[in-house]
Amino acid sequence: MSSQPNAQKLVYLDHSATTPVRPEVLAAMLPYFAGKFGNPSSVHAWGDEARKAIDDGREKVSSLIGASPDEVIFTSGGTEADNLAIRGVAHARKAYGNHLITSQIEHHAVLHTFEALQKEGFRVTFVPCDKHGLIDPDDIRRAITKDTILISIMHGQNEVGTIEPIGEIGEIARSHGVLFHSDAVQSAGKVPISVGDLNVDLLTLSSHKIYGPKGVGGLFVRKGLRLAPQATGGAHENRLRAGTENVPGIVGFGEACRLAKAELPEESKRLIELRDKLIAGFLREIPDVDLNGHPILRLPHNVNISVKYLEGEAMLLNLDRMGVAASSGSACTSGSLEPSHVLLAMGLSHETAHGSLRFSLGSSNTAEDIDYVLEILPPIVKKLRSMSAFGPGSSF
Ligand SMILES: *Cc1c(COP(=O)(O)O)cnc(C)c1O
Repeated sequence: MSSQPNAQKLVYLDHSATTPVRPEVLAAMLPYFAGKFGNPSSVHAWGDEARKAIDDGREKVSSLIGASPDEVIFTSGGTEADNLAIRGVAHARKAYGNHLITSQIEHHAVLHTFEALQKEGFRVTFVPCDKHGLIDPDDIRRAITKDTILISIMHGQNEVGTIEPIGEIGEIARSHGVLFHSDAVQSAGKVPISVGDLNVDLLTLSSHKIYGPKGVGGLFVRKGLRLAPQATGGAHENRLRAGTENVPGIVGFGEACRLAKAELPEESKRLIELRDKLIAGFLREIPDVDLNGHPILRLPHNVNISVKYLEGEAMLLNLDRMGVAASSGSACTSGSLEPSHVLLAMGLSHETAHGSLRFSLGSSNTAEDIDYVLEILPPIVKKLRSMSAFGPGSSF
């Protein structure tokens, strides 16, 4: 095997950070940049053409989650959809109460939005999780007060892959008359989603995590639900999101959803096989390694491990040198010295959290990719540990 930078295998295992745009998606988008460039609000042929493209995209996105097309609002991505859902409910309903519930393991798009609302005077309960990253619906039930107006709990955890009991939490929310939002950016297209079964009122999606373009996402808003818009302007998107629509982006997002839905049963089975092969291999080949996240209730494409006595960053650099792309914690926390808030909430020590790696699989990955990673990571760990001052015998 060659370790020369230009002659080596390249293995992308960071699909939870972003995915490539599929060729079919790119082909669907291309006409809408120049030829079919109309403004969907215009009353002429060019406008009609763009309007139809958006309607078609909305149909495809809604179909992935079992919603009706008029329940999908297009945004600039998952982050904006999370903001619109959370701020939109908080601001529209503050006359009914000022208490909000979320978890300690949400994506920063959710967590930082709740922190901002705390500064506005809302009271926020951040429920904990267990050692597998699982949230207990009873903790949610106990946190509800007569002032609670919104619960937001993510569906598939982006760092450790745990799938949360959203349907059950949604039932609790509904029985107390509290609105329920879920960030499903990581689970959409990977596990079947039906907004009916999940009992959600609001659900966040993002295009670039499912082989669509960056800069476009969607928010499911249950029919009849009123939100406070977060940008003012024209009457676009059911008056919830002003601004001329990203037509090529929406076309691409729609096509990505259509393909994800068509391929989901087979592709998720394939990913689960690769995932379990990688997990079993790590546990077999590397001493003092733990799987993070739930062993069974787990996203098909997520592998997260803690390699004791090592820094994730050092392993990442060595993997990168060998052509393998992974991440430590979430992409947003990489590069900062703070260990992942998710791993800390699960009870990991700072040291163990720092030694964590996430491998997120996707459509291009093969069994050979997994073999390659299993061939190169154990010697990297061995080499780094032999150089490390923080071995099993140290008092660190
Ligand atoms: C990536 C991600 C987001 C943010 O989506 P963007 O489209 O990048 O803004 C939100 N939530 C989760 C769980 C994510 O993984």
